[in-house]
Amino acid sequence: MQNKFNLGFFPTPLEKLENLSSQFPDYNLFIKRDDHTGLATGGNKTRKLEYLIFDALEKGCDTVVTCGAQQSNHCRQTAAACAKAGLECHLLLGGQKPVKYSGNLLISKILGSKIHFTGENRKGEDIDPMMERLRKKGSIPYLIPYGGSNTLGAWGYFEAVKELKDQLNKLNLEIDHIFFATSSGGTQAGLLLGKEEFEMDFTINGINIDKAETEITLEKTILNIVDEFSHENNCAFKRKTFEHPIIIRDYDHPGYGVVTENEKSAIKLLAETEGILLDPVYSGRAFFGMIDILKSGTLKKGSNILFWHTGGIPAIFEST
Ligand SMILES: *Cc1c(COP(=O)(O)O)cnc(C)c1O
Repeated sequence: MQNKFNLGFFPTPLEKLENLSSQFPDYNLFIKRDDHTGLATGGNKTRKLEYLIFDALEKGCDTVVTCGAQQSNHCRQTAAACAKAGLECHLLLGGQKPVKYSGNLLISKILGSKIHFTGENRKGEDIDPMMERLRKKGSIPYLIPYGGSNTLGAWGYFEAVKELKDQLNKLNLEIDHIFFATSSGGTQAGLLLGKEEFEMDFTINGINIDKAETEITLEKTILNIVDEFSHENNCAFKRKTFEHPIIIRDYDHPGYGVVTENEKSAIKLLAETEGILLDPVYSGRAFFGMIDILKSGTLKKGSNILFWHTGGIPAIFEST
């Protein structure tokens, strides 16, 4: 067990999508509601931040620095976590300062974070000089990487698999496939590690969101986290025995944050059938991908399929 700083409401609900399942009679569809983790409109970063914020406090830090896009859900949840933990929060956000703040950016500001606009650099390229500046000022800064995706952050979804397992046991239910939005890799790494540790049989299907490839590919990031995590925590399983991460790249071509008819139709479908909101950047794209795969008929008939809702709701309110 790894110590954590409580930030969210857990377990998040697990529900059957009754109406939608009747539209896909070959499958039973379920949803895990991490849009309801509870931290300033929720989302998957809350689980990671519980471990990262604990570490920051334990190391005696008084300030957190992280980075992301202007509509970053990670940055918004980090701002909320810092408010609760009494830490100063600096966010390095890509792009130029907009005339009007909206969505996640507006919430991050309301939460009291200090926002710095970094132009083209939305993945933390400017983080080192910022850390240096803060140290010179006498602060003790703690760096949270892009998306909170490192070995410590992976504890969030490692433990989330245990949470899901307990819920499934109570319902006497087995899941065959999990679909979710994958981007910086920490969620997928945690799910893969949890699957091994808690001996689950489901297939973990990450729908890729951000087609931009930096020097280090998403797959490599995931496997690095898996390796480090199993090493640090003396896990019995090793990467060799590991299933390869499944990263579905068929839906990322418009590019990060570009909203197309695909995302819009997915948002409309789940809203109109189940009264559940998706976001246009992550969960909307991933949900579209899952529905497209269901329609293709490639998954075994009778499969139980879980959509892991990773949040992102404030992006619906983005306006320029
Ligand atoms: C960050 C994020 C993801 C992707 O999670 P990673 O751990 O970065 O791969 C998915 N959905 C939403 C809403 C997010 O904010």
